[in-house]
Amino acid sequence: MIQSLQGIGMTSSRTRERMINRLMEQGIRSNKVLDVIRNTPRHIFMDEALASRAYEDTALPIGYNQTISQPYIVAKMTELLLASSGRLAKVLEIGTGCGYQTAILAQLVDHVYSVERIAPLQKKAKDRLWSLKLKNVSYLHSDGGWGWPDYAPYDGILVAAAPPEIPEMLLQQMAVGGVMIIPIGKGGSQQLQRITRTENGYEVEKLEPVIFVPFQSGRK
Ligand code: SAH
Repeated sequence: MIQSLQGIGMTSSRTRERMINRLMEQGIRSNKVLDVIRNTPRHIFMDEALASRAYEDTALPIGYNQTISQPYIVAKMTELLLASSGRLAKVLEIGTGCGYQTAILAQLVDHVYSVERIAPLQKKAKDRLWSLKLKNVSYLHSDGGWGWPDYAPYDGILVAAAPPEIPEMLLQQMAVGGVMIIPIGKGGSQQLQRITRTENGYEVEKLEPVIFVPFQSGRK
């Protein structure tokens, strides 16, 4: 682990800086977000065979038919979450996956509550965040369609898999003034949406086309 954290080859600061420049060209503006991405080793979140490609602008397989989200999408969703509200004390993440998005969030908000339906993926993610000394994260092995009612309401909710429509339980677990960033839709045509909970209801903004793995029910 120690060795893989050091700056050899693919992990060099030049490789990471190239990724940051690309994110800026793609429209990411938040320096806070860019700094955290710059300083988080993305390659430790994937299998060694793919680690050399970790800083490319692409989603890559992490096993169990799932993928680590593309750097742009992680940056974009994080920026949207941070821009929308005041202080983010509690953030609910659905789809821990390899834990990369979790690690980015943990450095920008007070506490992350992360739900994943595939137990072995979450176990590995947990170990990685622990090795990075990111301890303000709680993990739940569950179907994220139920959210995590014990700690609701949340100031922010970030969903990393696409359901056909917004899960009702997640809406119910948003604080007033809170935001949810979520891809909605089937197959190749999904749309990133931002939902804001107001005093009297919800505002929905449709943002941009995206491609995510499907939101699936049940636990594995
Ligand atoms: N941010 C993660 C994304 C992983 S892909 C990363 O960069 O690694 C999406 C993840 O959502 C997968 O791990 C998948 O198992 C999980 N997922 C899909 N449907 C889910 C559900 N209903 N509840 C919890 N997790 C779910």
